[in-house]
Amino acid sequence: MTKKAVIKEIDRLKPEIINISRLIHSKPELAYNESFASDILTSFLKNNDFKVERGIGGLKTSFIASAKGKRNSPSIALIAEYDALPKMGHACGHNMIGAISAGAATALKNIASDMTGKISVIGTPAEEGGGGKIKLIEKGVFKNIDMAMMAHPSNKTRVVGRMLAVVEMTFTFIGKSSHAAAFPYEGVNALDGLILTYNNINALRQQLKEDVRIHGIITEGGEAPNIIPDRASARFYVRSLDMKYFEDVIEKVKECARGAAKATGCRLRIAIRKTVYHPFRPNYAMADILRYNMKLAGLKEDSIGEKESMGSSDIGNLSQVVPTIHPEFAIGKRSVVNHSPEFVKAAVSKFGTDMMLKMTKTIAMTALDIFSSPEKVKEIKSEFRRSNG
Ligand SMILES: [Zn+2]
Ligand SMILES: [Zn+2]
Repeated sequence: MTKKAVIKEIDRLKPEIINISRLIHSKPELAYNESFASDILTSFLKNNDFKVERGIGGLKTSFIASAKGKRNSPSIALIAEYDALPKMGHACGHNMIGAISAGAATALKNIASDMTGKISVIGTPAEEGGGGKIKLIEKGVFKNIDMAMMAHPSNKTRVVGRMLAVVEMTFTFIGKSSHAAAFPYEGVNALDGLILTYNNINALRQQLKEDVRIHGIITEGGEAPNIIPDRASARFYVRSLDMKYFEDVIEKVKECARGAAKATGCRLRIAIRKTVYHPFRPNYAMADILRYNMKLAGLKEDSIGEKESMGSSDIGNLSQVVPTIHPEFAIGKRSVVNHSPEFVKAAVSKFGTDMMLKMTKTIAMTALDIFSSPEKVKEIKSEFRRSNG
């Protein structure tokens, strides 16, 4: 069982891997409704003799597909995401993520009959805001998994990129409407409460640590210029690299809204979404193995810092539970960024597809290295225990 054989097998599977990616791309589905994508991936894995279980953890479009080697451990999970973005389609390239994980797992299973561990593909719905992985973690889906890997399309190729914790906060101001010209003194302006909140947050920004990101939109701001708005609301995302500091920032942002409510005489409702994405906890022992295999697969890492252009993902939550790597790979030029119409095209471009196949090889070879080295397994696990968030 050599890496050469794995590469050869992925080359043989190439038309099917590309087909999976193209099919999922052609029918974008939103969070928790990815039934077509889940069909495509599970039927491919079933045809390749994986034991498939669908709808795990109470989520309709989730799945686990497993193949056991000689032993049950280490148990490596390759993660599949497959949700798209509202109105845009596959603007985050998730069509490729499942294709990579299913392709790599199949290649390993098909050629590595003496594989000493267990390989699974775990289909995790709703990465774009829904937090599918968080629900699967809570339901114990990852309890018997030793480590997890997935690769994400990007505008750059890098092995380790940090991620920010994120939470959504909704502010609703309740005032009192009245004629804006004749009886303004009878009104309580909810929109003013909201605008002051927005400005308070802007003032707060200067006093915050540099990894913090706060951004929001106004979703309700009145009905007509001649009516004092009795209701106004906004949705904000608050992000930070450090979980403890994150809590402090959330409290400060609440105070921005409370102060504005006091100043305007509005009533205020603050709703905080329960689904919180946690920061990414890198595992460098795994990252080093992947970096080595990336070179073998012909991928070149860009020189970009770990803490540059950070987003958020529910893989952050998974990385807090099991050792995880989440490399990114460029599918177009540096100016082609996630969540843009150009990225939708790049997600099925020739260049992007070529990069996807190289990443499939990288992931498969990385799993192979881990399977064949109990030393490395030990190293990965002890780093995870030491790293402590
Ligand atoms: Zn995205
Ligand atoms: Zn994404």
